[in-house]
Amino acid sequence: AIINFGSVNIDHVYQVDHFVQPGETIASTNYQQLLGGKGANQSIALAAAGAEVRHVGKVNQSDSSFKQTLIKHGIDCQFLQCVEAPSGHAIIQVTPSGENAIVLFGGANQEIGSKEIMHALDKARPSDWVLTQNETSGLAETLQQAKQKHIKVAFNPAPMSESVKSLPHECIDLLIVNEVEAAELSGEQELDAIIEHYKTQWSHAEVIITLGKAGVIMLKNQQTIQVDAFVVDAVDTTAAGDTFIGYFLAAYSQHADARQALKRACAASALSVTQAGAAQSIPEAKEVDRFLAK
Ligand code: ADP
Repeated sequence: AIINFGSVNIDHVYQVDHFVQPGETIASTNYQQLLGGKGANQSIALAAAGAEVRHVGKVNQSDSSFKQTLIKHGIDCQFLQCVEAPSGHAIIQVTPSGENAIVLFGGANQEIGSKEIMHALDKARPSDWVLTQNETSGLAETLQQAKQKHIKVAFNPAPMSESVKSLPHECIDLLIVNEVEAAELSGEQELDAIIEHYKTQWSHAEVIITLGKAGVIMLKNQQTIQVDAFVVDAVDTTAAGDTFIGYFLAAYSQHADARQALKRACAASALSVTQAGAAQSIPEAKEVDRFLAK
């Protein structure tokens, strides 16, 4: 199984004529509540890709319908606790031109600690993978506990922050970053220098750098594997990375053929950018099969 220690956010999306100004009160012309969070998106992508996925996290007890949604996607939510803390959530203003302004509150996502980590990893097996992003608490301990139990660890440091630099990198088996995260974490700007950095500083791990419509590069055993992106009409690139990660790990954890898994992940994420929205844009495995057969 893939054990995803991941955020679950409630996205409150307000359509507005313009972003609210200091001291101003404006009426929103439309309101939607959507399930979000990189963690939840990645679990949904993993499940869509056919992986057995267990989501570890916390939401407020009044938001249990979001847990039900994840269960409906086929995700094992026995370790997704309903608690008193407010759910992680985002207040999102969207203007007619499609620009957004976001206030994010970590809430219950930031209340994951030793107890939850130990409990979720208690029955884990060495054939399992642990996956986590940078939207939940207890990261250092999650990485260390997983390593101690000889469980492989995939880490997606998104959104990137300074604190990622002090995590126990030696516990990470697979690092997945986009170009911006790759640059920030390495302190390098040019792609060649970035790649050189990961080749030398992260030789203990496999590293995937996603490059948007330029595709993806994977560093594995001193080799560089490059796979092109598929050419599609991009409508909305939200959750492209999450779709990529879910589809990649689902395939890679089953057959470990890196190039094939990268290609499938590129196909799934290309399909996701042709659709608006986050979780709603993650394709089903059948659609990915059809796209690849073309
Ligand atoms: P993130 O969404 O985390 O910023 P990227 O933008 O690197 O990540 O996208 C992840 C993957 O999604 C890319 O490696 C690529 O395969 C696919 N992808 C992203 N944007 C496009 C696009 N415009 N056309 C085709 N594929 C895309």
